[in-house]
Amino acid sequence: MSTEGELKQRALSILNEFYGYHTFRPGQWEVISAVMAGRDAIVLMPTGGGKSLCYQLPALLSEGCAVVVSPLIALMEDQTAGLIANGIPAAAVHSNQNEAVNRNIIEHAIAGHIKLLYVSPERLMTDLETWGRRLRVSLFAIDEAHCISQWGHDFRPVYTTLSQIKALYPTVAMVALTATADKLTREDIAKQLTLREPMCWIGSFDRSNLSLRVYANVPMPRRITFIADMIRKYRNDSGIVYCLTRKGAEAMHRSLSAMGFKSVCYHAGLKAAERQASQRAFVAGDAQVVCATVAFGMGIDKSNIRWVVHNNLPGNIESYYQEIGRAGRDGLAAETVLFYSMQDVITHRHFISESGRQQVNSEKLRLMLKYAEAAVCRRRVLLSYFSEVLDHDCGNCDVCLNPPQRFDGTVTVQKALSAILRTDSSVGIFTLTDILRGAARSELRAKGYDRIKTYGAGRDLSAAEWNDYISQMVQLGLLEIAYDDGNKLRVTAYGMEALRGRVAVELAVYRAPEPKKSAKERGGKKAKAMAAVSPDKALLEHLKHVRLELSHQLGIPAYLVFNDATLTEMSQRRPVTAEALRSISGVGELKARRFGDIFINAILDFKG
Ligand code: ADP
Ligand code: ZN
Repeated sequence: MSTEGELKQRALSILNEFYGYHTFRPGQWEVISAVMAGRDAIVLMPTGGGKSLCYQLPALLSEGCAVVVSPLIALMEDQTAGLIANGIPAAAVHSNQNEAVNRNIIEHAIAGHIKLLYVSPERLMTDLETWGRRLRVSLFAIDEAHCISQWGHDFRPVYTTLSQIKALYPTVAMVALTATADKLTREDIAKQLTLREPMCWIGSFDRSNLSLRVYANVPMPRRITFIADMIRKYRNDSGIVYCLTRKGAEAMHRSLSAMGFKSVCYHAGLKAAERQASQRAFVAGDAQVVCATVAFGMGIDKSNIRWVVHNNLPGNIESYYQEIGRAGRDGLAAETVLFYSMQDVITHRHFISESGRQQVNSEKLRLMLKYAEAAVCRRRVLLSYFSEVLDHDCGNCDVCLNPPQRFDGTVTVQKALSAILRTDSSVGIFTLTDILRGAARSELRAKGYDRIKTYGAGRDLSAAEWNDYISQMVQLGLLEIAYDDGNKLRVTAYGMEALRGRVAVELAVYRAPEPKKSAKERGGKKAKAMAAVSPDKALLEHLKHVRLELSHQLGIPAYLVFNDATLTEMSQRRPVTAEALRSISGVGELKARRFGDIFINAILDFKG
């Protein structure tokens, strides 16, 4: 028996040899040592937190083979490809693969040649019954464990069969891993899997490298310009645009493609082959952007996603957090931007009315909206949702960097409310905006709206501004949206008080993303100086180029060569000996042998 200290030394040397990492992230060692002592564990870490090592290291430290349950084939394939690239014997068994291949892999595992075996939940129980006894199982890992809980946001009925594993293997340790923080879900996971007094690690959900920005009521063309600027800014990297509907994702994809960007589309309405092609192009770095619905992302182990834009409001904070969490998994700075409008809320209400879980889903939407409307540090709001307290403002969100400005909006409010009353409360946001701006639309004339006193009383503001202020009036409780009656606007009792001038109302000044100035506007010489790249940056770009060529030659995704964090460290420390290269985080023994010379030569040859 080895002592805890000896075990940790062995663990660290494996970490270094295979992964090229030198220290554990918070929680990793705690979980590893609990599992090595035979304890069950629940691991709750945000996406990118480093959950995989929590079961991979115990697998490498133990005799036998670890069985890992994972909900998606793409996810299993990414994981096994990553492990094999690091020299760790791993394989996946699932129904998309020829049965003879599956059987061969299983025999291989039984013979002791595989350390990590990924299995889809659909076939795990039958597989365990047929060959399980012959396999020496070191531990079970249940990835995306929230799929077992009806409380979670992604319940999968097939996961419920996993509750039988413990009955079959009462003495084998089980690790359940998830990025869903909700307390009810967490307790339900332990119950469903019948874990025995599990060690519970709840990691910090703070991802300080992600910047957070939110914009309300930005017109579509402006959003597209913004996204185009984002793609140009990260020309050699990639990003995700999340849309609420399939149609929305396709429209965005068409717009961006028409502008000449390398875009792909992903949603559940596409054929499996089309989805796979999109995902492959994105992971391989051949696409600059993927326009997708929530269907995209689980199992995307791509560490260099530099930005995520939500073109619409997500339905709940868990999904939102998971989606933005796909950016910057290498720990380097990444940007996230959320666009939302009242129209999104209306669409969600419609989905919710058909969801069969009205109460839970409405509450989740309400909290999501609360985040979007927050006038305090967004990271504080976000973390408080996960029961975590941040005791300082983050300095990396739009509220911290550029606090909202307020003005006395009483007159603005009165114009809008009075116009509503004069239409007998029969208009929605868009018609109201048109009335206020005096739009020359024939329907307005047909209904006599052009003769009401407030027609054109708000010409001084743009449609986007009116949209935003009307949304704020809803949020402030001056107005209600009749979701059950054509989304018409109704003035509340509090609204009547404002209309009569008995209460004053403050509004936040409308804000849209600044349009990017062209080089010419910034002024010739100065623009040139700003565009000049620092030497490190230039080398980094060069190394990325080398990586891309190599990945094309080998026919593997670029991140399987080295991830961005590793290349960045290389560009800063410029290792030119094998030993110096090995000291870079992410350069394990196998990768150093395979790719070391290529990168050392690239650094030596670089004339930056
Ligand atoms: P999760 O499954 O929690 O989303 P991963 O296990 O995929 O996260 O890890 C995210 C990234 O962090 C991966 O690129 C992984 O190689 C890296 N990583 C994990 N643990 C460490 C560590 N101890 N040191 C450096 N990088 C790490
Ligand atoms: Zn902040």
